[in-house]
Amino acid sequence: MPKTIIISNRLPIKVQRTEEGLAYETSEGGLATGLGSIYKEGDNIWIGWPGTYFDDEAEQQQVRKDLSNQSMRPVFLTEAEIRDFYEGFSNETLWPTFHYFTQYAIYESEFWEAYESVNFKFCKAVMENAEPGDTIWVHDYQLLLLPSLIRKELPDSSIGFFQHIPFPSYEVFRLLPWREQILKGMLGSDLIGFHTYDDARHFLSAVSRIVGLNSSQGVIDNGFRSIMVDAFPMGIDYEKYASMAASEGTIAKKEEYRHALPEQKIILSIDRLDYSKGIPQRLLAYELFLKENPEFHGRVTLSMVVVPSRDQVEQYKELKETIDELVGRINSSYRTITWNPIQYFYRSFPLEDLSAMYSIADIALVTPMRDGMNLVCKEYIASKLDKKGVLILSEMAGASRELADAVLINPNDLGQMVQAIRTSLLMSEEEQMLRMDHMQDIVRRYNIHHWVKIFMNRLEFIKMKQLSMA
Ligand code: UDP
Repeated sequence: MPKTIIISNRLPIKVQRTEEGLAYETSEGGLATGLGSIYKEGDNIWIGWPGTYFDDEAEQQQVRKDLSNQSMRPVFLTEAEIRDFYEGFSNETLWPTFHYFTQYAIYESEFWEAYESVNFKFCKAVMENAEPGDTIWVHDYQLLLLPSLIRKELPDSSIGFFQHIPFPSYEVFRLLPWREQILKGMLGSDLIGFHTYDDARHFLSAVSRIVGLNSSQGVIDNGFRSIMVDAFPMGIDYEKYASMAASEGTIAKKEEYRHALPEQKIILSIDRLDYSKGIPQRLLAYELFLKENPEFHGRVTLSMVVVPSRDQVEQYKELKETIDELVGRINSSYRTITWNPIQYFYRSFPLEDLSAMYSIADIALVTPMRDGMNLVCKEYIASKLDKKGVLILSEMAGASRELADAVLINPNDLGQMVQAIRTSLLMSEEEQMLRMDHMQDIVRRYNIHHWVKIFMNRLEFIKMKQLSMA
């Protein structure tokens, strides 16, 4: 019986060493939820790194055994691999390049060699588990070489690949010294998915110019197989956020927040610490808004959550310092005895708190410089049970392609962001509800389960088409 194998850099679980032994914390992320309907079925499995470094053979055996009961197969990475493949090539070469921050990209051949060898390692793990006829779905930028490595071993398998971050324009992509190997790695797939049509278009143009393969209506013919390239905008688990917003816990938390900020309009901002998220630009816009709109002093609060991430990397450390300084400057310039313009949290929150923040916020200010999709804005929409609230969204987020009823802004245009904040604060409830209603329709319909289903259906379709043409 053919099975489905999901492969991503990280497993949907985090294994940690505690004093009592190994502890397993399952991920609540959208991808884990969406793919849960697949990898937990029958003989299907998920292959990936368990998130912690293990060098002890007995410990590895234990992890292997514990995870095998949960349909997962771990790939263990050495400390050097975590440094050079994950933190190095994935996060310091591909991440900045694909997010158009080329000035931060490091081109280091040792990182590339580690990237190649870890992709081989993942391929080996796939081969220990795969059989001809299996369907294989590879996820994200850490594993761009894997589709063609698997293809060499299992020429007839069905291989899907989805990239969760942007694919940059050819002019940026071509800067990578390993651009051709990367594209050829991806072209081992039968179906290649991105969040937006622009990403798909950029990929097709890079393939045409660098590999010399042209496409027609999103289908590349490499002489052996047709490879389909398309946009599959990822959704969220809508019902989870909607029902969480209606839960007793969230309602109690909301009252607590309202009690602390009785008279204020709340502007919410939630991101991982990352230069792609445009956090300093957002703070500068808020500062200018306060300067130009003194009538809002004391009547508005920016509630800003920054989730710590990659803070060992120099650029992230500097970004954290910039944010700390800006928050300090704005708060110290404008605060009064009874009012703080910004509530700044540098930590993560449990889902219940996030749900209360989403449902109480009058505005969600989501202004990335570049974002593959951005799920925070969709979670905000799903949490708005009374439909009151405005989403200010960057055009540079993949989600902006679906959410035309947001107040769309260019994060480089400070004046436009200031105007958007003002317009949103003054927007009539009627207009808020109309816009929110449209956005909820879209986010509810194109949820994570729908995303998984259409990707898998399309993969099956392209395979059947290939067979009928053979
Ligand atoms: N998130 C979280 N804890 C927090 C704040 C945010 O788990 O304290 C989650 C949030 O609910 C969302 C994810 O982090 O699902 C961020 O996803 P997004 O696509 O917006 O950005 P990414 O971090 O993947 O670039």
